[in-house]
Amino acid sequence: MASAVQPILQELDRIIEENAARLEVRTICEVVDAGQRFPVRSLCLGSASREAPAVGFFGGVHGLERIGTQILLSFLASFLEQLRRDEQLERELAAVRLVFMPLVNPAGMSRGTRSNANGVDLMRNAPVESRERVAFLVGGQRVGPFLPWYRGPRGGPMEAESSALCELVRSELLGRPFSMALDCHSGFGLRDRIWFPHAHTRRPFARLAEVHALMARFGELWPEHPYLFEPQSRRYLTHGDLWDFLCAEAEASGRVFLPLTLEMGSWRWVRKSPRQLLYRLGMFNPLPPDRLQRVQRNHLVWLNFLCRAARTYREWLPVGEDRARHERGGMTDWFGEAA
Ligand SMILES: [Zn+2]
Repeated sequence: MASAVQPILQELDRIIEENAARLEVRTICEVVDAGQRFPVRSLCLGSASREAPAVGFFGGVHGLERIGTQILLSFLASFLEQLRRDEQLERELAAVRLVFMPLVNPAGMSRGTRSNANGVDLMRNAPVESRERVAFLVGGQRVGPFLPWYRGPRGGPMEAESSALCELVRSELLGRPFSMALDCHSGFGLRDRIWFPHAHTRRPFARLAEVHALMARFGELWPEHPYLFEPQSRRYLTHGDLWDFLCAEAEASGRVFLPLTLEMGSWRWVRKSPRQLLYRLGMFNPLPPDRLQRVQRNHLVWLNFLCRAARTYREWLPVGEDRARHERGGMTDWFGEAA
């Protein structure tokens, strides 16, 4: 039963052991399922200053979607490896904080389920109610844990894993002048998408101009990139999104926090190899090892870009008329309004 998660936990342990001097490792919570204990850990590196910009990487919120965790572990391992040889990278790292929570839902990964051991979908678990028409079931439901997308009992506390994620975001990201997050998922559509808030409403995100400027910068550097950038609300609306919940906190503080979701278009892997459909994990993960490696490699450019963009945010974060221009660009590109 635990076989799906064991190699991933071993890889995480190996990275921690080999880089003990470099990484600040914390067990934010512990989950017990069927007599097994699973630590939920965060790994931080880089600047210790509270004023340094930061980027947080999150994976494995949905236990079935192993690929998100695998991408983050391979990125972290290669980044640490490069640090040993590259003094320039070492100097750059001194100006930015990197935060990793690569496996938010280890019990779900062990069970091979989207939800955690209590049957709760962690990405529907925040106290955020959509007042608009959410997608049936997929938008989050309170009927019970026997159906997917269960939000947890009404009025109940958040699940340990969701609380741990929020606590880490508050302590490591929100207090800074600038921070970003990337939450890695798979399972939707044929294309790789980068989603930004909101999930609970079609109203534009308060940081639309900043997101537009970030994506324009990426497009200038990598014109051939594979991603489709869009607000999640363009696809479907949900209750309980953790990132919408944390966004509201950041907005109240006036700090810039840009939470993004990488949604890997896994249907493409299925189309290339329909045999994947025979396996439940195949809908969410590239199964042949060579394809897994290719998928991991393909996203390294984007992950490296985010680290660099966080470090150099003062160079591209738009202000004044430039900000107004990006705001109009965002409205035209994503909300169908003429500039
Ligand atoms: Zn997911």
